[in-house]
Amino acid sequence: VRLTFTTIYSKGKGSAGTIAVLQDVTDQEKLEESRREFVANVSHELRTPLTTIKSYLEALEDGALEDRQLAGKFVSVTRNETERMIRLVTDLLQLSRLDSRQAIISKQLTDVSEMLEEVADRFSFQLDQRSIAVSIEVVPAVGEIVLDRDRIDQVLDNLMSNAIKYTADEGRIAIEARRPEPQLLEISIQDNGMGIPKKDLSRIFERFYRVDKARSRSMGGTGLGLSIAREIVRAHGGTITLESELGQGTKVTFTLPYTTNEEAVV
Ligand code: ADP
Repeated sequence: VRLTFTTIYSKGKGSAGTIAVLQDVTDQEKLEESRREFVANVSHELRTPLTTIKSYLEALEDGALEDRQLAGKFVSVTRNETERMIRLVTDLLQLSRLDSRQAIISKQLTDVSEMLEEVADRFSFQLDQRSIAVSIEVVPAVGEIVLDRDRIDQVLDNLMSNAIKYTADEGRIAIEARRPEPQLLEISIQDNGMGIPKKDLSRIFERFYRVDKARSRSMGGTGLGLSIAREIVRAHGGTITLESELGQGTKVTFTLPYTTNEEAVV
């Protein structure tokens, strides 16, 4: 709370009185604080790959270039780090569009079952490679729903890629869709992977929040996947929640309201 005193003077009579203003500044300060933290995070996330790239380029300059095998390795590290920065900047741009409500949701009638099959197909190579089994269960009542297909695909891709990243080889992923109420579609993606410690659960949707930064980075994660998913789901008027048990697995569930017309929302 901020307390401001203003003294009022009237001509020739000196002080006429004092006005005290009580102002709640906690929200403002919290916003400032989270903005500062965000900028610090972005800078750090960009600086890390840049520092790596710089040191590998210097090593190449200092002679590694002569050793073809070593040079090849160094170039590939540099490329990976560059790709990581591109991913990060793409994610940041998308978040900023969602924040400023420019990510106009263009809605189209979509067959939920087909959409979920296609997500699994997009990841089939990784799933096969790691021998992770996927099951898809869609209750018939789910049918079709109006949604922004590209954006919801991104939500599904982010959740699916997390499920794969944080699940050991030969794990299992279950994708389900149901209609708990006539006006609500509910989709969940559950894995039997490493899970998330209780103490981290409340912060998991925050930008750049990661249980294990090193692990997430080495898996190619930007720490923005869940934040983006949440913004997209919110823009659709839905909600997203995550349940997890350390060592047992994680389940992310999101809801979307059934809408009847295909007009742009937001
Ligand atoms: P990242 O790019 O690091 O995966 P996300 O925003 O998608 O960023 O997720 C944030 C963090 O939440 C991850 O770093 C990871 O620690 C945790 N997490 C997300 N999904 C899962 C999951 N399915 N299993 C275990 N941990 C998860």
